[in-house]
Amino acid sequence: MSRLYHPDDTIVAIASPPGGAYRGVVRLSGPTVVTLLREVFDSQAGTQIDQVRCASVIPGYLRLRQWDADPPCDLYLWPGTSSYTRQPTAELHTVGSPALLEAALETVCGAGARLAEPGEFTMRAFLAGRLDLTQAEAVMAVIDASGPQQLDTALQQLAGGLTLPLTELRENLLNLLARLEAGLDFVEEDIEFIGAAELESQLKLSADRIQETLLQMESRLQTVEGIRVVLVGAPNVGKSSLLNAIAGKTAAIVSEAPGTTRDYITCRVDIDGVACELVDTAGVEMANPVRGTAAAAQQVTSQQRRRANLQIFCIDSTRPLNAWERGELSSQPPEPRLLVLTKCDYPNVLQLGKDAIRTSSRTGSGVKELLLAIYRSAFLVDDSLGNVVATTAARCHKSLTAAHESLARAMLEVQGATGEELVATEVRFALDELGKVVGAVYTEDVLDRIFSRFCIGK
Ligand code: GDP
Repeated sequence: MSRLYHPDDTIVAIASPPGGAYRGVVRLSGPTVVTLLREVFDSQAGTQIDQVRCASVIPGYLRLRQWDADPPCDLYLWPGTSSYTRQPTAELHTVGSPALLEAALETVCGAGARLAEPGEFTMRAFLAGRLDLTQAEAVMAVIDASGPQQLDTALQQLAGGLTLPLTELRENLLNLLARLEAGLDFVEEDIEFIGAAELESQLKLSADRIQETLLQMESRLQTVEGIRVVLVGAPNVGKSSLLNAIAGKTAAIVSEAPGTTRDYITCRVDIDGVACELVDTAGVEMANPVRGTAAAAQQVTSQQRRRANLQIFCIDSTRPLNAWERGELSSQPPEPRLLVLTKCDYPNVLQLGKDAIRTSSRTGSGVKELLLAIYRSAFLVDDSLGNVVATTAARCHKSLTAAHESLARAMLEVQGATGEELVATEVRFALDELGKVVGAVYTEDVLDRIFSRFCIGK
């Protein structure tokens, strides 16, 4: 079972963006937050954290295991159920130094918390009834929005753009179902709880509302932008150089030292009208165990891979495959993959079948072929995968279409006077489908798919 379903664990994550900044935030949520804070936080004014009853900001210091000095820190504490997750929640706002934030994370884990999975805070908010599924997805869409139009759509979704009409629709159908079922209970007595004409007009009303929502959603889908392409490979194989060669400009840092791309770098390119977001990730480290910043970079890399529509798997043509590369090549990734041999200006030793595209960032050879392959793949990959608003739309579109079809069948049953039992079955089916949209009906699988695409700390 996924860890996401253990809301009794206290979880922690760095919630501020990667890299140095004036302020950094470490977020915690779970039943033992207050006990744990007693170990890691000292209040400046001697406030007893246990006695705090409502949302408060408490200035103080962090007590880090690894450090002698106690860095200044403001504690934002929601001790009860008024937080985002409806659990005791805290944020430690301190100096935004990556090393310091990592030390804070380690200290908090040492005191009994575990690292949060991607999207786990938002998943808890969903499970606690704070948000419905479309709103949870909208949280991610707001974070990911790349322009005012996407942000606007995401904010509308967060504000309940889709939820409100659907909730009303579900309530109407539930009332209708209650009346139908009451009629079924009294079928012997021949008592009619709803007449055929009213039943049909109610069904039609609901079907029309669904149709309207579907049309709205389709227009929303048209705002979706291109595909997300992620470059993956061992450190130093030439991913950043390739990104630069593709982009035709210096967008990533190129260095001789392995592991320069610690986080990820994106750049947008237009390939014959197809918008592509290229993502350069940290090289996958072979050292075991990978620790510290490298471990965080690895987490970011796997997260980027999960969110990609297309993977460009880079292999250095000047050396034999390593064990990790052999393993990767023998397995099928979930997203489409292009194999690319790099540094082919060297007299290469590696032969990798005819599917591999041979490139050299130094001479530019093979880059055109690679662009063509990306362009072709763009039409093969499911456009909706990389964009959150589109993903929500795709998920909901299926359910709404199914609900609409059920109601259409229900109307035919009414017209054919085939019996209220069959009408009720169709209405129940439509309700289930509408429930899936807002998350009133869900499966672990759906939740996993939605929340694993989030960033850690959100
Ligand atoms: P990354 O860490 O995997 O992103 O790899 P980089 O792009 O930083 O490249 C690693 C090293 O390989 C750098 O010294 C690059 O100059 C060199 N390199 C990358 N691509 C090529 C290439 O096509 N030809 C040659 N000769 N060297 C390359």
